[in-house]
Amino acid sequence: MLLTFAPVLDRIAEEIAGLTERGRPADYIPALASADPNSFGMAVAELDGTVYGVGDWQRPFSTQSVTKVFTLALTLARKGDPLWDHVGREPSGNPFNSLVQLEYENGIPRNPFINAGALVVTDQLHRMTGDASGVLLDFLRAESGNPDLDFDRDVAASENANGDRNAALAHFMASYDNIANPVPTLLREYFRQCSIEASCADLALATGFLARHGIRADGTRLLTRSQAKHVNAIMLTCGTYDAAGDFAYRVGLPGKSGVGGAIVAVVPGRCTLCVWSPGLDARGNSVAGVAALDRFTTITGLSVF
Ligand code: GLU
Repeated sequence: MLLTFAPVLDRIAEEIAGLTERGRPADYIPALASADPNSFGMAVAELDGTVYGVGDWQRPFSTQSVTKVFTLALTLARKGDPLWDHVGREPSGNPFNSLVQLEYENGIPRNPFINAGALVVTDQLHRMTGDASGVLLDFLRAESGNPDLDFDRDVAASENANGDRNAALAHFMASYDNIANPVPTLLREYFRQCSIEASCADLALATGFLARHGIRADGTRLLTRSQAKHVNAIMLTCGTYDAAGDFAYRVGLPGKSGVGGAIVAVVPGRCTLCVWSPGLDARGNSVAGVAALDRFTTITGLSVF
């Protein structure tokens, strides 16, 4: 079916403008607290890099945990299945920064998208490359075609100053020999990763390799077809904090959210999406973002189900 996305996005933006309950920006990272919950942007990227957008779709924001998708892919591409000796791939059912499960499971985090799991993945990438956050930034610049993407040093410093829980997770896993780098080095890399600023257009384009079954924007392969399936499956089951069941029910796509208010989603073989609105629900997902993706799959019928 030939479908042009522009009128679909216009219709969704109009509906979202009428949304009265938009949640609250994350305030546990002070640098994010001042974001305006009424901001809203959405972009769809076709497999060939054509992008459609609406609202604040070109405005940069703090990508936060959305970056965990890319770090996972970059690490899996280099390390392959032995990565799964260090991190699991089951939904956690616990808050993203929970410590309690880690002790029961001997320092092996449930999945790569809770903070403990993301720390392990970044640790592995840094062990293999010596520059985890730099490798990630280069990848995002290349895939988005935007050489101006960068870290936000204020956000990284703000997270570092308020990072006791992530530090606790990292030290705790180090006590189980599941962290290779010195913890301060790992935390620096992790906070830099979370601080990257990008727009909906940038992130929709950067996620394209997951819709192209592992193929990057320049036609080279990052992941095998199976590995791309694996990353999409983990996004579907674990990508939206402990609301992944509800997200699958409403949206029906692999997705990954971040506390900056962004969500990326993949329609394998067809397109990728990124939506951003900083007001979050109680579980950390963008209220307007989930609503917009829900409308997108309902209007277009493009879901994996
Ligand atoms: N930098 C944030 C943290 O580690 C990321 C949280 C998120 O977006 O889920 O707390």
